[in-house]
Amino acid sequence: MASRAGLQTAATTLGVANIKTLQFAGSGRNFSVGQNYTPADPWPAVPVKNYTAIANFDTGAMRVELTREMGPVMPRGGGAPFFGEQRAIQVVGGNYAWNVPPPAPNAPAGNAAPQPGAQLERMLALWSTPQGFVKAAMANNATTRAARGGTEVSFMVGGKYKMTGTLNAQGQVEKVQTWIDHPIVGDMLVETTYGGYKDFGGVMFPSRILQTQDGYPSLDLTVSAVTANPAFDAPVPDNVRSAKPAPVQVASQKLADGVFYLTGGSHHSLAIEMRDHIVVVDTPQTEERALAVLAKAKELIPNKPIRFVVTSHHHWDHLGGIRTAMDEGATIVTHQSNKAFLERVAKTPHTIAPDRLAASKKAVKIQTVGDKGQLTDGTRTIELYRLAGYEHTGDMLVVYLPMEKILAEPDAFSAPAQVGTPLIPPAVPYAKALYDNIQRLKLDVKTIAPFHGNRLTDVAELARAAGVGSAN
Ligand SMILES: [Zn+2]
Repeated sequence: MASRAGLQTAATTLGVANIKTLQFAGSGRNFSVGQNYTPADPWPAVPVKNYTAIANFDTGAMRVELTREMGPVMPRGGGAPFFGEQRAIQVVGGNYAWNVPPPAPNAPAGNAAPQPGAQLERMLALWSTPQGFVKAAMANNATTRAARGGTEVSFMVGGKYKMTGTLNAQGQVEKVQTWIDHPIVGDMLVETTYGGYKDFGGVMFPSRILQTQDGYPSLDLTVSAVTANPAFDAPVPDNVRSAKPAPVQVASQKLADGVFYLTGGSHHSLAIEMRDHIVVVDTPQTEERALAVLAKAKELIPNKPIRFVVTSHHHWDHLGGIRTAMDEGATIVTHQSNKAFLERVAKTPHTIAPDRLAASKKAVKIQTVGDKGQLTDGTRTIELYRLAGYEHTGDMLVVYLPMEKILAEPDAFSAPAQVGTPLIPPAVPYAKALYDNIQRLKLDVKTIAPFHGNRLTDVAELARAAGVGSAN
């Protein structure tokens, strides 16, 4: 059968029979997925000075080491601010994934950090490499068919995860598609395109790798070196093998009558009591976190339904539980630029790891806000303002309670653990933007409740952090 022969041609072209391990290195850009300026913008790009991947196809292990570099200005959009060089080592070995702290001079090796949530993506990345894809296709009884002058190859890896790829007539893997579970966008397409195949010292390998996630570029590499069969194994560290997921905890702090600051993790929320209902601001990260946040809100404010969930902005870390909020039946209050995106999120297929909304299929209710909006019950008013001139995101709604003089905000300013610690340079413009907006809107703020960090702060500390030293 001609198409079956296509897979055989690829095996020969790519030398898979003789390649047990493979290393490739290059440079380019990676991108902060889920952190675009608006849902219609691409993911923000970060320069990658060095990218080295090494795979062992026999043991199902891969290690990626990358060095990224950031100047004093972050690209437009989100992503955790950093300054200078940032090294990361990411490993997958069988059913486990972990990160290794980069070795520092004269310091003992740090402990591996378990990353169970990254295992699927990393495992599929290993089998998405050209040689990996052909090996996996042969090992998993792939179906093949003639397509566009080449061969389309499909199979399931791990008995559960679909992979599809196209081979050209020369036996080069041109494109690989995989799908990974994501709490917001569901079965998320990860598509890797390979071009510019060259003979790298006896190994045919692409000189260009372009990957997209959810439709926008996520990795763009120019490959400069490839080595076949270097020594590599990645035994699973004991602490990774025995790691238990940290329990989701929601702590609460009463900021005013009926106003609760919900903390206990890396991303905080707010629960506000209204006359006959509850308003929650942000259901971050995952369905598990969102369920715990919603449960805590109902425990603190008993016998009232959660009628509104306000999304501070569309970045995926803060939006991870939005489908849980939809399933709760709450109206989602968001900036108008997110409406189409959230309508897609409400309907996107979740077959890899079905969530509550996948089962309930509830219709989504969205209430949009422009530059300002409010929620009121006649007594309490919640004011929402879009931050202007804020490069982290175009849709940031900060929450202001005029009676209580409380401002809740994610990402613009997180008070450092130690009072007086200066912000790193790329974080200063964010604090400055928040400060400028508070002045522009003439908000009388006594307490700032940041959605990151471990304490409340105020405008005086914000002003110092923003470099507006003599402000009142
Ligand atoms: Zn953000």
